[in-house]
Amino acid sequence: MPYRDIKTMEHLGNLLKRAPHGLEFGWLYLPQNGPWQPEASAVIIDVDHLDSHDVDQDDEPIFAKQQGLAATLESRTVEDIVASATALESPASVDLLVEAFNYYFEFDSFLPERGHIPLSRDEWRHKVNRDFYDALGPESLNKKCHIESCERGKITGSLRCKVHHYGMVRNKPCPFTD
Ligand SMILES: [Zn+2]
Repeated sequence: MPYRDIKTMEHLGNLLKRAPHGLEFGWLYLPQNGPWQPEASAVIIDVDHLDSHDVDQDDEPIFAKQQGLAATLESRTVEDIVASATALESPASVDLLVEAFNYYFEFDSFLPERGHIPLSRDEWRHKVNRDFYDALGPESLNKKCHIESCERGKITGSLRCKVHHYGMVRNKPCPFTD
């Protein structure tokens, strides 16, 4: 048996289920390209404990390459992911564990809640701008914006309305008009 140090493959779901009891040291190898299903083939490999003829010229385990597997995360990180998912639901279902794993792999952070979809970069930027705009507060009903021809009222602490104050501070046109 040339690969005596490599455990037999198991399903990703099973591997995550036993993570609370401690995983072997090494990297978790999975089929290339996630997101993964609970039935995905999984194996933890510690390259340091392989014989030199079990790794190729790129220092990758030959066994993994033959199986079409690629390294994903270190097993200690996998344990942390499972611990964080267990904090959301205890006991955590296999589906939740796999969701948390996929989420961490894609976004490099722990899943905040089941079904969470993070904002895209554009959505996040829009939210930051919107929050800033909303924080400017109400416009005066009787004191006009300092910009000529603007019919809006000024905000507290500025000579300008929300739109023109935003444009001045952000140095770009305000995307909001409400
Ligand atoms: Zn104005």
